[in-house]
Amino acid sequence: MSGIIKGETGDWEMVIGLEIHAQVLSETKLFSGASAAFGGAPNAQVSPVDAGMPGMLPVINTVCVEKAVRTGLGLNAAINLESVFERKNYFYPDLPQGYQISQYEKPIVGNGEIEIDLPDGSVRKIGIERLHLEQDAGKSLHDQHPQKSFVDLNRSGNPLMEIVSKPDLRTPEEAAAYVTKIRAIVRYLDTCDGNMDEGSMRCDVNVSVRRPGAEFGTRCEIKNVNSVRFVQQAIEYEARRQVEVIEAGGKIVQETRLFDTKNGTTRSMRSKEDAHDYRYFPDPDLLPLVLEPSFVEGIKATLPELPDAKKKRFIAMGLTPYDAGVITGERDRAAFFEKVANGNDPKLAANWLTNELLGALNKAEKDLADSPVTAEQLGGLVALIADSTISGKIAKEVFAEMWTTGKDAAVIVDEKGLKQVTDTGAIEKLVNDVLAANPDKVAEYRGGKDKLFGFFVGQIMKQSGGKMNPAMVNDLLKSKLEG
Ligand code: ADP
Ligand code: MG
Repeated sequence: MSGIIKGETGDWEMVIGLEIHAQVLSETKLFSGASAAFGGAPNAQVSPVDAGMPGMLPVINTVCVEKAVRTGLGLNAAINLESVFERKNYFYPDLPQGYQISQYEKPIVGNGEIEIDLPDGSVRKIGIERLHLEQDAGKSLHDQHPQKSFVDLNRSGNPLMEIVSKPDLRTPEEAAAYVTKIRAIVRYLDTCDGNMDEGSMRCDVNVSVRRPGAEFGTRCEIKNVNSVRFVQQAIEYEARRQVEVIEAGGKIVQETRLFDTKNGTTRSMRSKEDAHDYRYFPDPDLLPLVLEPSFVEGIKATLPELPDAKKKRFIAMGLTPYDAGVITGERDRAAFFEKVANGNDPKLAANWLTNELLGALNKAEKDLADSPVTAEQLGGLVALIADSTISGKIAKEVFAEMWTTGKDAAVIVDEKGLKQVTDTGAIEKLVNDVLAANPDKVAEYRGGKDKLFGFFVGQIMKQSGGKMNPAMVNDLLKSKLEG
């Protein structure tokens, strides 16, 4: 998938901008003390504020303000010391206030920038337009009764951060990498759980097409896309649709569309409303939000090492950019790696983590948190390889045994007598035996059939049960054959 579409009249380029709604990790809602937890019984978590009762008064939740600032700093963005909550007016059955409290002209976080990691190992910078705080709406349930719709207000008033990107993305892969990076950042920061299945992170995808390098075209916005794969599919479909419309002589109208997950298409939902349709105005129940510089500085001082910084550090330790990207993609994965690499060769530790352990976990459909092999145990195995106690090949056997028994690598190596032979005398004897048993092959090798080297190595390894040190076998064999 590239960002270029070959149309009948020539090439078209995709232009993409994402609005990500990320629910703030907070026990209570943005302006009320009701629980913001996921999955409660319908309408069990609704205060008078969330139900839009007359005379109710919103009170800002400090935890949400702190987390919005924290996220802004993680996005390398400007923090606005004064921001304003405004009413965004519209009618919807699941919006009892008749407006959503949001931020518009003065959001809490301004321009920022993040790096995205592309599949080929390269990195691109993507601009962040702003981050603002807003309330979530409730939920209409249309599938509970044949004639009626129900409303569940548990979600009403939940704290959301809306993170808006600049229209800097050019391919579906870049959009996927962007969502993945935002999710990693908020998880590292502990400001959102990034759980797209439960809707605590969802995406509005803006797509337009243009001739490469020309002015931006008219965009369509696809609402509430809830997985990275769907983001890619929605862009792919929508960009093609726009090219077909334009090439058939039609015009793109700015509109809001829905993504149909069943057939991977988008369809029109409503024509796009303009900002003035919402009659934004500052909420008279809330004062402007003024932050002390020391408050922001205090948060800055507690920021953890973020994925990009960690990735750079891991690359400096000798990891490939690809491995470093995979490992830092999840906070617990990076922490696991640091334990495996503790006192070990980092590159070897990374190989064993990404190739063997993550592979096995993936196959078993298990999370790293439920790994039968602990980080310390994997580190133990890596140490045995590094100091030549066992070969990489034997290590795979040991690993399989660790996976099923939960035993330490050293215990398995002892019990099964898998210690690698590094005694020159023993290796030399076996090399001699194998050469003596195959005089015709030795002659062929000396006559120029180089490939037979592998045959000899294979025989020696087989006869030693894989326990001979491979480098020593190679050296000795070479000197015998060539000597
Ligand atoms: P709205 O509230 O109208 O959706 P926002 O400012 O919240 O506006 O979001 C606009 C989003 O659309 C941003 O992510 C921006 O990058 C993106 N965008 C703006 N212009 C284009 C365009 N021509 N093509 C694709 N995306 C665009
Ligand atoms: Mg929007």
